[in-house]
Amino acid sequence: MLRGNFQRNTRQRQVILEELRAIHCHPTASELHEMVRRRLPRISLGTVYRTLDLLVRLGAVQRLESGRGQARFDGNPDRHHHVRCVGCGQVADMRTGPSKQARRGDQQIGGYEILGLRVEYIGICPACRDRMPPDERDRLRREWR
Ligand SMILES: [Zn+2]
Ligand SMILES: [Zn+2]
Repeated sequence: MLRGNFQRNTRQRQVILEELRAIHCHPTASELHEMVRRRLPRISLGTVYRTLDLLVRLGAVQRLESGRGQARFDGNPDRHHHVRCVGCGQVADMRTGPSKQARRGDQQIGGYEILGLRVEYIGICPACRDRMPPDERDRLRREWR
């Protein structure tokens, strides 16, 4: 029975990783669950959560934490920058990032040893820009200034 479980878990892990690597929209666990269910109709949301935890620990997947809203997941484990929409929470990759002023280990800021730099841009995605009333956009611009 153990062997059966092991094979099923391996298959689930494979499908979850494949689905996540095939897209670039950084889904939440429940969004990913919807996608994976097309191939594994009986998989539970709990299994998706557990598998994502494991893949993050293995370094195959990145978890993108956010102050508000649910964590999102990235099938690209390489370091890169992100932009997050304040309207819908969608996260996209950014090709360029700010220059690294504090380089790993060689500078201290406020008593902290700097281990790295992770920056997230905040923006409004094209879809939200189209449907957002102009005064809402102005309010958000002031909030993030
Ligand atoms: Zn948006
Ligand atoms: Zn990314």
